[in-house]
Amino acid sequence: MSDNCKFTRRSVLGAAGLTIASGLTAPVAADHDVGTGDQYPETCDGPGYNDTPRLPDSPWQVHDPCRPQPPIVDPGEPAFSESPADATVLIGDGSDGDITLDAWEQPDGSEPAWDTTDSYAEVNGGSIQTTSDIGSAHYHVEWRAPSDVEGSGQHPGNSGAFLANRYEVQILNNYENPTYADGYAAAVYGQHPPLVNASRPPGEWQSYDIFWHAPRFTDDGDLDSPGVLTVYWNGVLVQSQTVLNGPTRHRDIADYSQHSPAAPLSLQDHGQAVRYRNVWYRSLPVPSSVITFDDDQLTAENTTSTLEASLTNPYDSAMTHGEVTLTASSESGVEVTPHETSFHPLTPGSSQSVSWEVTRPNAESGPHLLSISASYMVEGEQQTIDFRVPIYPEPSP
Ligand code: MG
Repeated sequence: MSDNCKFTRRSVLGAAGLTIASGLTAPVAADHDVGTGDQYPETCDGPGYNDTPRLPDSPWQVHDPCRPQPPIVDPGEPAFSESPADATVLIGDGSDGDITLDAWEQPDGSEPAWDTTDSYAEVNGGSIQTTSDIGSAHYHVEWRAPSDVEGSGQHPGNSGAFLANRYEVQILNNYENPTYADGYAAAVYGQHPPLVNASRPPGEWQSYDIFWHAPRFTDDGDLDSPGVLTVYWNGVLVQSQTVLNGPTRHRDIADYSQHSPAAPLSLQDHGQAVRYRNVWYRSLPVPSSVITFDDDQLTAENTTSTLEASLTNPYDSAMTHGEVTLTASSESGVEVTPHETSFHPLTPGSSQSVSWEVTRPNAESGPHLLSISASYMVEGEQQTIDFRVPIYPEPSP
């Protein structure tokens, strides 16, 4: 661990605010006052910047030289495995033949200029991004910093995995190479340092497993839920449900701006010959149910009622060509008349009501179970959800 960062400015979060080492109380960060470094003229000896904005809800500035260095943890012997059977492989591991970059393009749509061999792809000639949009996902990324170490700090082995093309999980050779805490490998760059430094030496392969929940926005473009990620670095937990402040920036902060939850993954060319292999992802399960009912419906005394359901798109891509059918078994004697049961494309997070008129044989019949089937398209694939909903339960004693 580096000892060249002396904590002369601020120490730890107190219950009522921030306690400075001198005993003064710093502004409480919860007011979202990001300020500038000018209000903290003291400097630390470590690498970083003293002229950057203060991070929201944080005692630290962007790339703060006073921010504690991540403790070093030896990750143990490497253990790499093949991709799971249902993973989408973005860069192979060479076991199925030469590495190709068919899943990638340059930002202008041209072919990647990276070098490929039978076992890796190497950064060259510009950053690359996936040709397809990817939503919330488990990403596995294996990378290797050059064994010839050039420079120090943010230089050796710098690259990065940009989730949704906006949010960088830093890639850097931090083996015996300190830098500002929020610029370490596995940092959410400029925001959140890794919990520990689980570096392997340059020239050795390392792995990230990133569990990414994309941010969501309302139809008006406001932030509905921020991006959240968890990262294992060489099998060691280094980000635990970390909430992102917004897109990552060098020496700056940025607010979220609306984008589709599904967007390309990009890998950075930072002028270093970082190698990649065995890069794949598996989409995460949808975060919530597609159809929800109000439990209190169809408990009335009358025999004919309107049953309403709310259809919400929990996916990271549009739901299209959808229809919901509601049926009752013939022996129940319940009749179902559709009102509004088809829907037009639903953007991620948006909702629509569907409804039916439901008639039972008499005011005493029940309880009954109705069958629901929702079918729709997501990313070109047909999806179907089947379940049953109870109606007219027996009155409570
Ligand atoms: Mg980088």
